This record gives sequence, structure tokens and C-alpha cells, in this order.
Amino acid sequence: MAEQPDCDVVVIGAGFSGLYAMHELRNRMGLRVIGLEAAPDVGGTWYWNRYPGARCDIESIHYSYSFDEQLQQDWTWSERYSAQPEILAYLNHVADRFDLRRDYRFGVKVVSMEWDDDARHWRVGTDRGHEILTRFVVAGTGNVSIPKEPEFNGLESFNGPVYATHAWPHTEPDLAGKRVGIIGTGASGIQAIPKLAERAGHLTVFQRTPNFATPLRNRPSDPEEVARTKANYPGVRAAARDSFLGVPYRRPEHLALEVDPEHRRATYDRGWQTGGFAILMESYRDLLVDEKANDTVAEFTRERIRERVADPAVAEMLCPDDHPLGTKRLPMETDYYETYNRDNVTLVNVKPNQVEAVTPTGLRLADGTEYDLDVLVLATGFDAFTGALTRMGVVGREGQKLNDVWAAGPVSYLGLMTHGFPNLFTITGPGAAVALYNNPLAIEDHVDLATKALQYVLDHGHRTMEPDAQAQAQWREELNERAHATLFPRAASWYMGANIPGKPRVVMMYVGAAAEYRATCAEVVENDWRGFRFD
Ligand code: NAP
Repeated sequence: MAEQPDCDVVVIGAGFSGLYAMHELRNRMGLRVIGLEAAPDVGGTWYWNRYPGARCDIESIHYSYSFDEQLQQDWTWSERYSAQPEILAYLNHVADRFDLRRDYRFGVKVVSMEWDDDARHWRVGTDRGHEILTRFVVAGTGNVSIPKEPEFNGLESFNGPVYATHAWPHTEPDLAGKRVGIIGTGASGIQAIPKLAERAGHLTVFQRTPNFATPLRNRPSDPEEVARTKANYPGVRAAARDSFLGVPYRRPEHLALEVDPEHRRATYDRGWQTGGFAILMESYRDLLVDEKANDTVAEFTRERIRERVADPAVAEMLCPDDHPLGTKRLPMETDYYETYNRDNVTLVNVKPNQVEAVTPTGLRLADGTEYDLDVLVLATGFDAFTGALTRMGVVGREGQKLNDVWAAGPVSYLGLMTHGFPNLFTITGPGAAVALYNNPLAIEDHVDLATKALQYVLDHGHRTMEPDAQAQAQWREELNERAHATLFPRAASWYMGANIPGKPRVVMMYVGAAAEYRATCAEVVENDWRGFRFD
């Protein structure tokens, strides 16, 4: 007798993706769903990343679910940009409101996932010894969820505590009077550094590559704006979905080099004052495609850094010159540059003089310089896009391992499925319109696509669905073409897999407007899921 599946769908993850997938699959479609989540509770990235200063830099009213009008009406964000505790409270509210926890098993990691081609189901194994048979898997495992492995010899020998931004302790550590060192000046480091400087006795920032960071300009929510938004949420969401970043920034009219320097200065000043991504999104149309155009906004930003940092040598160390602005994920800052004017903060350039080892008493650089530290903080980033999916032991049809199929870089069709791995849907997987697009909306769009596909399989009495190898190869070409028409490949960023030594350097996501991506997906759906095969 063939074994019967334990459920219709396993949903992996209880962040923005998993929770919405659980809601759609179970509450709306009435399927039997089991959720698996490694953390003890819901929240995904917002469960783990609770470091001082952790905050979303997409406006709260846009960085939220749009699928339920009453939810939108009932929830009011207290600030223009929400801090981590408020986003986590929101996801807890969503989980309770839609009764999503009931079918989750928390504190459970997926360690194996094997496709049984005879039975046409997945066999999902966990670190708790569960084995779950399921027809479909929806992986809501996140794109920046698995930390980069620390590359520092001797980390275990350090006498003091080592805190990572992605796994900050729930009880806030006491840093008063302590010598704290932090490695990493990406979006996480740039948010944490000003807060750590306020708390520590002395903070030493070990910076390898400076990043462009622009002001966040957070403030309490404006009640009038909240009321206006709530009166027209469908319109607000439609405008967001039609914008490049998934936030309705005003579209720029001009190219940067067709206007005079005064025009550019006034425009960049406006963007700088507005805060958030405005300077990149609202200034000129060609900032992400024309390097000379980009140079103008990059230089404007360097000038602002020089104005804000008192010591000219420190200011120069903070001025990026190795990538066009915006081609690495642009961090948003609050008091970041002024932090370097404090007496208790030191910036150390570890580009020419790399961190060689962590010692029992601190850090040693390549030239032998030692820094004595009581506490070490790592803000060194993530094994983005592929990190979670390649750590689950996924084995597809004919014993193919996902890690082998993705050895030269991830391949997928629409970022949704990979040839050879039937009935496995990857929410905002590599190749989807994400990262350059507001995550909650990208996730909703993708879960909607996955549930539509699943419904199609069920309605037509099919047993499996997977993309054709040819459609997948064409999608890879399209991703490459789109990316290479922009400046994105110029940066050694996690968008390109370039932040992890040895990881293949390929474009990881769809570089283009989400509206175009959605139109492509809609066309695929209308043409009976062109490029997919069913059995
Ligand atoms: P990240 O942008 O990848 O930054 C990692 C930092 O660690 C970089 O400065 C990197 O330097 C440094 N680093 C890594 N390995 C190193 C080494 N061996 N020696 C010295 N320095 C090293 O990671 P992140 O800051 O965690 O941000 C990741 C993404 O999460 C962001 O881009 C964003 O999408 C998201 N995020 C969003 C928010 C928000 O909404 N506000 C906040 C935090 C994070 P190099 O550049 O030289 O490699």
C-alpha cells in the first residue's frame, strides 16, 4: 500500500512569507497544511534581528500586508519607519488574528527533503526527528535569513561575548564601560553603530568597505497621513505595486546629465531632506543605468559625509568609491556619520590590513596591530538568496541534489520553481522580483502566484508541476540581460552573491520593475502556465 501524505502542503518558515502562505493555503483554500519554523515563534527575520537600532527603512504603511482590508484599517503604525519590536508585534497580531500558529511546529529545522517520484510526494525530515509526507512544499525561508559563516580564526578563543546582529540576545547586554568592537558596516552595522556607541565605554568599528548611506528621517506617524491612507488603502497599494521599489515614490522626469549642476544640487538636496530611498528613486531616471549620472549623486553623498564628519581623514575613510550608489543595498542612517565625531568611537580601516584573527583579548590585524576588546559584535551579513534553501538537504527527481543543480549559481523559472524539483514552490526565490522590491508586497505577489499554481494542479487532477529546463534557461538569460543593462553587476554585493568567498557570482534576482515581472507571470498563467509541465 502506498503511504498516504500527512498533509497537502508543508510551509517552511513563519515570517512574512510563511504566515501569508499558511493563511492562503489553509484558511482560504481549505488545504491541510503543516508549518515548520526554526525559531520558537513567528516573525522570521523580525524575530531574529533584534539588535539595537533594528528598524525597517521602507515606510511602515507600505511595509505591511495588503491582503486584508480590515487588518489595514485596524492596525496603526506609531512611526514613519517601524522599529523591530513593532513589526514583530504586528506579525504576532497577524498570526493571532488569522489563527495561524495552530498548524505550526516551532523550534523545528528542516534537515532533509526528498522527492519520492513513485509516490509523488516530498518526504520532509526535521532535526526533531519528524518525517512528514506532503504533496507540496512552500518554502518561505527568506533571502537574508542565513548568516554568513564568520571568517575569523580564533573566534572561539575570545574571552568575552560575541553577539551577532542576526541573533541578538533577548536580554539586552550591558555594554556600559565596555570596549566593544564591531565588524561590518552594511545596513545592520549602520543601524547598530550609533546605538552601540551610546551604550559602550568605547566602540571600535572595523570597516572593510564603506557604504553609501542616506538619511532615514524617521518621525512619529502623521495622523492625517494615516487617515488619508486608510481612506484609500487600495489606491495606495496599487500605486506601490506599480512603482519600481514597491513604494510610491514620485517618478523622476529628467536624466541627471541633461540638467545643469544647480538643478542637480537642488534635486539631491530635496531627496536628502525627504529621506529614505527618495534621493535614489525621485531624482533622475538614469541613476542606476548610467555610471556618469550615478557619479553625480555619489559625489553629492560624499560631500554630505565630509560635512558631517569632523576629522577629514575619518570622513575620507567613510567615503565609498568602489561601486555606484544604490548598486549595493542602500543603508539608511540616523546619526551614523556624527557617531564618528564622538570621543568614544574609533574607525579602523581593515581593507588593506584585514582582520587576521580573533584572540582571547580582542582582534589582531594582518600587520600585527592588536585591539583589546571586551565584547565583539558581528554584523557581517548573510548567505543571501540560496543560503536557506541549500541547507535543507533538498533532493529532487532522480536523486538530483539542489546544491549540485545550483553549484554554478541558482537556476529557476520565475524564481518560483526549479526544474527537477516538482511541487516545490520557493517564495521570492532566486530569480524572482524581490530585494529591489518592497518585501511584503513581493511576498504577497509570489504567494498568490504559488497558490494559483497549486490550485491549477488540483483543479486539473494533475499530480505534479515543474518548469521545463528550456523555460528555466531562458529565464536565466532574461535575468542576465536585464541586470547587465544596469549598473548592478558593478558592485560586489549580495545581490550578485559576491559577499561570500567562493560563491558563484551571478545575478540573484529580477532586476526590473515588479509590474513588468507580474505582467510576465500573468501571461504565463493565461497561457496555461506556459513553460511548466504537469503530470
Ligand atoms: P551586508 O550588507 O552584507 O554587510 C556586511 C558587512 O560586513 C559589510 O560591511 C562587509 O564588508 C562586512 N564584512 C563581511 N565579512 C567581513 C570580513 N571578513 N572582514 C571585514 N568585514 C566583513 O549585511 P547586513 O548589514 O546584515 O545587511 C544585509 C541586508 O539585510 C541589507 O542589505 C538589507 O537588505 C537587509 N537589512 C535591512 C535593514 C532595514 O530594513 N533597515 C536593516 C538591516 C539589514 P564588505 O562590504 O567589505 O564585504
